Amino acid sequence: MTIMLTDPPTRSRAELVTLDERFAVVARGDEYVERLYDGGRWLEGPVYVPAWRSLVFSDIPNDRMLRWDELSGAVSVFRQPAGYTNGNTLDAQGRLISCEQGNRRVTRTEADGSLTVLASHLDGLKLNSPNDVVVRRDGSIWFTDPPYGITSNYEGHAAEQEIATCNVYRLSADGELTVVADDFARPNGLAFSLDESQLYVVDTPARHIRRFEVKDGRLVGGEVFAPYQAGMFDGIRLDAGGRVWAATHEGVHCFDPDGTLIGKLLFPDIVSNLCFGGPKRNRLFITATTSVYSWLITTDGAAPPYDRG
Ligand code: MG
Repeated sequence: MTIMLTDPPTRSRAELVTLDERFAVVARGDEYVERLYDGGRWLEGPVYVPAWRSLVFSDIPNDRMLRWDELSGAVSVFRQPAGYTNGNTLDAQGRLISCEQGNRRVTRTEADGSLTVLASHLDGLKLNSPNDVVVRRDGSIWFTDPPYGITSNYEGHAAEQEIATCNVYRLSADGELTVVADDFARPNGLAFSLDESQLYVVDTPARHIRRFEVKDGRLVGGEVFAPYQAGMFDGIRLDAGGRVWAATHEGVHCFDPDGTLIGKLLFPDIVSNLCFGGPKRNRLFITATTSVYSWLITTDGAAPPYDRG
């Protein structure tokens, strides 16, 4: 196994923008952010694995997954090749669920390390390139399927798109794959509300987050929850207060459940995704282009299973 002992984390002052007093409740933690790792090409898909005290994340163009050890600070290669994996999450049993956008499938890593293919085709046609994934308490797995992994060889394998649309999918606990939304340009990050009655889904080129009602395994509605004219959204996660934390081109945006943008954490590089982790789930891990950052805050991530996105 390749061990890459990293330099001590570098700390820099958190560049906070408070837009609403409600942001103060969650942002009174560390006044600095730590850069835990720098050396990726385009980092994505962070997921904190409590059993390993580690953050697993994807380095898509380098076709590898990396693992940052919380106790030692070491970063090692977790999997390579990795099917150009993008988004990751855990299911209720703590198993790693991954969007292999190069292999155009969603897989589960079993306890023995083997991979189980959960979804790869719809009616005999290959998926485009699954991007991000979330697990619901009923065991269903919901994921988005834009074509970023097949438009070139940069972060996947150039190929024809077999399914005409870029859908949001639901994979039921017994393995039935269903299209739950087909009116997206490029669906991307997604996360359930705390009671799982709503699903937030990013449409990246449309520059907004939509919010659907979840009814009997289907999606209803889908109004714009949050627009963003200065750039684009990617991954999203919810905290224990139901606030939506979103990765954007200028940093992390935090939205109240009523849709108000209450604050920002700015970064010099494009932020792709984020997740909550640490033993108390109060540490925000952020993948931003070539780096992974963390920020200890005063709210916790949404309760498992597993990280609402
Ligand atoms: Mg994404």
